[in-house]
Amino acid sequence: MRALVKTQAGPGFELREVPQPDIRDDDVLIRVRRAGVCGTDVHIYTWDAWAQGRCRPPFTVGHEFAGDVVAAGANVTHVRPGDRVTAEGHIVDERSLLSRTGNAHVDLSTRIIGVDRDGCFADYIAMPASNIWPLDRELSYEVGGIMDPMGNAFHTALTADIPGSVVLVTGCGPIGLFAVGICRAAGAARVIASDVNPRRLDLATRMGAHVAVTPDRAKDAVMQWTGGDRRAERGEAAEIQRVVLEMSGVPAAIHQAFDCARPAGRVQMLGIPTRPVDVDFASEVIFKGLTIYGVVGRRMYDTWHQMTRFLRSGAFDPTPVITHRFPLEQYDEAMRAITSGDAGKVVFEIAD
Ligand code: NAD
Ligand code: ZN
Repeated sequence: MRALVKTQAGPGFELREVPQPDIRDDDVLIRVRRAGVCGTDVHIYTWDAWAQGRCRPPFTVGHEFAGDVVAAGANVTHVRPGDRVTAEGHIVDERSLLSRTGNAHVDLSTRIIGVDRDGCFADYIAMPASNIWPLDRELSYEVGGIMDPMGNAFHTALTADIPGSVVLVTGCGPIGLFAVGICRAAGAARVIASDVNPRRLDLATRMGAHVAVTPDRAKDAVMQWTGGDRRAERGEAAEIQRVVLEMSGVPAAIHQAFDCARPAGRVQMLGIPTRPVDVDFASEVIFKGLTIYGVVGRRMYDTWHQMTRFLRSGAFDPTPVITHRFPLEQYDEAMRAITSGDAGKVVFEIAD
């Protein structure tokens, strides 16, 4: 079969013929049809400091996919050949303290497909059956193939109090764009999206942002729509609650997220800074009484259930975020599209 392989410690990938993976008794084999390409793949492709510290070539890359089950191991009962599926790409120890107390998304033994073991940019992938998520008939393989990053956005948004709130989303990469649509569908009073890139602000508007602005205008927009901090003190109607979703990982946006959160409010942090960030904890966090929630992957499997409900209901449509589609052979072009910063979600069309 074909597989996009990180062959050695250095930049680039190679499209190679490799043997179809074997499955063990608890695994299923999946014919991959669509696969999402993401920033993590670019880190591995360019072989940056994170990739050098984390990855051990050779391995097949890719962690977001959907396809059909073609074979199931002897112990597998709930998934059958012919099932349309996607999968949670974080493979955890289901018996660990964290897994058994509802926190499998931060299990210490987590191994990620396409990072720590073979991934999905290939004709076939083997997965533990317990990681399989069934794909509804009404949902396309393309939508199934991006449920991993969409799940990051669902996790970020739905662990905050969105209905009726003014929501600031800092950073409109693919995950921030999904979050904009999710917050609209979840009944946010106003969704304010900020980004430095006008192409991405256009996409935020398409995803339903009421206001899409550059970062220098974000705080004014938030204050305008919430009535500001002191509205109640002036004897006016109570201000509207506000929630901040930090989805860029950029230090300036992280400071802005703390600044725009209401006192005793909540900041949802998904964006991953590339270096340590200097935070004045006393003024930015402590004396504001903020709660900071660190988002890791998707909650297993609350996030998957929530995502399926939203997609099934038709309240949330992620497809406007997808801007580029490539065959697997055009992996260099796919990496370039992401690096340009102008793309929304990029997808590999691996099989029809
Ligand atoms: P991305 O990294 O391309 O998106 C970041 C966006 O932030 C870009 O559009 C950029 O223009 C914008 N930006 C830059 N400076 C800004 C500023 N000052 N204010 C507002 N926006 C600004 O795309 P992505 O794939 O959506 O990833 C978003 C972040 O989430 C990244 O940091 C990524 O590493 C991280 N991530 C986290 C998890 C997790 O589980 N926590 C999972 C996947 C990705
Ligand atoms: Zn990803």
